[in-house]
Amino acid sequence: MDNRKRLLEYLLEHKWCFLWGALLGGIATGSDIVTMYLLRLFTDAAGKGDWNTITMVAVFFVGLQFPKGIAGYWQFYLIALATNRIAVDIRNKMYSHLQAMSLSFFERNRIGHLMSRMTNDVGLIQNGSGAATDAINAPLLVIGGIARMFSINWILALVGVVFVPLMGLLISKITRKMRKLTMMLQLKLADVTAVLEETMAGIRIVKSFGMEKQEIERFKEQNDASLKAALKGARRNAAVTPVTEFFGSLAVVVILLVGGYLTAQHRMTVGGLFEFGGLAIYVASSAKKIGRLNVTYHQTMAGIERIFEVLGEAPDITDSSVAADLGDIVGRVEFNDVAFSYQTGEQVLRNLSFAMEPGKAVAVVGPSGAGKSTVANLIPRFYEVSGGAVMVDGHDVRSVTMESLRRHIGIVPQETILFSGTIRDNIAYGRPDANDDEVEQAARAANAHMFITQFDDGYKTVLGERGARLSGGERQRIAIARAILKDPRILILDEATSSLDATSERLVQEALDKLMVGRTTLVIAHRLSTIKQADSIIVLGDGKIVEQGSFDELMQQGGVFAGLYHTQFDLEKEEVVASSEGHLEKTQS
Ligand code: ATP
Repeated sequence: MDNRKRLLEYLLEHKWCFLWGALLGGIATGSDIVTMYLLRLFTDAAGKGDWNTITMVAVFFVGLQFPKGIAGYWQFYLIALATNRIAVDIRNKMYSHLQAMSLSFFERNRIGHLMSRMTNDVGLIQNGSGAATDAINAPLLVIGGIARMFSINWILALVGVVFVPLMGLLISKITRKMRKLTMMLQLKLADVTAVLEETMAGIRIVKSFGMEKQEIERFKEQNDASLKAALKGARRNAAVTPVTEFFGSLAVVVILLVGGYLTAQHRMTVGGLFEFGGLAIYVASSAKKIGRLNVTYHQTMAGIERIFEVLGEAPDITDSSVAADLGDIVGRVEFNDVAFSYQTGEQVLRNLSFAMEPGKAVAVVGPSGAGKSTVANLIPRFYEVSGGAVMVDGHDVRSVTMESLRRHIGIVPQETILFSGTIRDNIAYGRPDANDDEVEQAARAANAHMFITQFDDGYKTVLGERGARLSGGERQRIAIARAILKDPRILILDEATSSLDATSERLVQEALDKLMVGRTTLVIAHRLSTIKQADSIIVLGDGKIVEQGSFDELMQQGGVFAGLYHTQFDLEKEEVVASSEGHLEKTQS
């Protein structure tokens, strides 16, 4: 759809505000035109010493301010109501749209850029629709004013308006590039937001590498680029006012000369000339506003364009039109000849076939980049397979609704994301209807109850934006409690690679063991103990299964897994031995 149509659609959604705004604008501008008429009466009466008329004019003049004031007040409010609603509607629409997008969309787009579209670009539209007051009043005044000017003296009016088309031509020439320049500015602003978002989110890394100075420089560079773009636009924008003012004053000068002549010839009264002059000034200032509106229009269209670039992009993973609810499941997961490649094109998984039996745990191991996380991401359909199928209880994941599929899947990621809110809110994330008892039971099962109750506010303890007040192990246990409360049939565990201290490690492991009971579990395993406990192990290499079997079977085979075991886990075994020896020594002493 054309962007102008889109803008119009938004405006039409609030047509009553704008229609009332136009009506009230008519009253306000009508009052301005009448004011000029009163000026005429006053001037002519003053020339004759007609005090009756002068008093009447004074009373009318004051009286006129009331309807004008009330109309102005309501017009302003109604337009503000419409524009703020438009901005809120667009933001809501964008947010819902972003929630519907797949993970690959967020990998293609910088988060800061998306945030900028939601703030800076929506701001442009809000600003643009805010100009509606001028867009209503200024043309009304120009049309009404010029009509009245013609009725006063058509020759003078003709002389006055001859400059209008000339002025319009020049302004449209000046503002023609405005949209492109605004697009450039918004792009630069998005870069600024992106740097801000990335460095604030990664502030620990910035500080730990001592990169503050470099980041300040990078931010300055982006900010300076936005300044340059802003100034380019400002130069054009600044030219609009002098151009309109020049033509406006030219018109006033000609009106004064011709009008002075006509008055001297008694073909017009002094009052008539005053009224005409006053109207000419009003019309000129309204024409100036129309000139500025042209700038605002192009800026608004740039905002609309950038917003609809996002809104116009259809989600690439959606429920099919015949998608059914998955219903209750036992939790059998099957990969049937699965092939997969990310949008970058390189094939990451090929001919992958394996089954996960209900209630059993499968450990996926393999070198970095082998495709372990990719396998895990295909079960909840975060990405779409490019060949074969992922089946849950015999249903292709593409044939069921994503909501019903994901309802049965719990994920404990390597790094726990906590949202701002209380500990309770964070555990009940995904199950906000859970009662306090259920939350506590989940926390107990996850070995989290103890540390939670040590906080003064217990479950009501408010966590920082990213849960800065919890240790790594505590965060993991919150994530486990979250999964326990969700009670999914299928579990995906991405074991954290960062090691915890022995006590914390034991608490997390215990919690995980409890969580896994009776659930079909896929573990991206890094710990030796998990691998040993798993019912079967899949060894991935270069996107393919290179070995598969139980721990003992694979060790007996003496193949890739056995090799991996020796190189990767010998160190771990040594550490375990060392720490238990240390523990022994400590206990003995
Ligand atoms: P690790 O143990 O290091 O986490 P992994 O075995 O889990 O590795 P994956 O993360 O599944 O491996 O990655 C498999 C391959 O796909 C790698 O070559 C990786 O570079 C690539 N890859 C992963 N995620 C993406 C993505 N979002 N877009 C493009 N390529 C990706």
